[in-house]
Amino acid sequence: MSSRNFLPQKLQTALEEVRRIYVDLAQQPIQRNCLRKTECCHFKLTGRTPYLTKGEAVVAAKALRATGRKSLPANADGSCPMLQQERGNCLIYEDRPFGCRTHFCAAAGGPLARREVLDLIRRLEDVDLALKGNGPRPFQNAVADVLGDMR
Ligand code: SF4
Repeated sequence: MSSRNFLPQKLQTALEEVRRIYVDLAQQPIQRNCLRKTECCHFKLTGRTPYLTKGEAVVAAKALRATGRKSLPANADGSCPMLQQERGNCLIYEDRPFGCRTHFCAAAGGPLARREVLDLIRRLEDVDLALKGNGPRPFQNAVADVLGDMR
């Protein structure tokens, strides 16, 4: 089901919850410090791609739209489409998905153990259910589908 099919209030509530989850994650007393080195954004090199729940994908897609873009930029080298190669910048850094905040980047402190953030993962899953998502999906697919729904 497309994000267009949700009542604005229901969608708004879901997106607010995703953003609260990101804030709650940042406030957890876990040593972690993203230095924006963007090494983890090179999916093909790392062999790992973040998986997004529906709420995360909608937040990311809206952030991309706010930059004036309507579709995912193509990165021929297999890096994240949100990565601006020439500047080494994430186009949606403040709205980057949960996986970008928690995964394996050694420079940022290594991956968070699932049990440390399980309550937050459950909350993302609840939002996914509320938005009739299909569970976590690969970054590009999840965001591209939402962008398609927004057209
Ligand atoms: S969304 Fe941003 S932080 Fe996450 S992998 Fe893509 S470029 Fe990197």
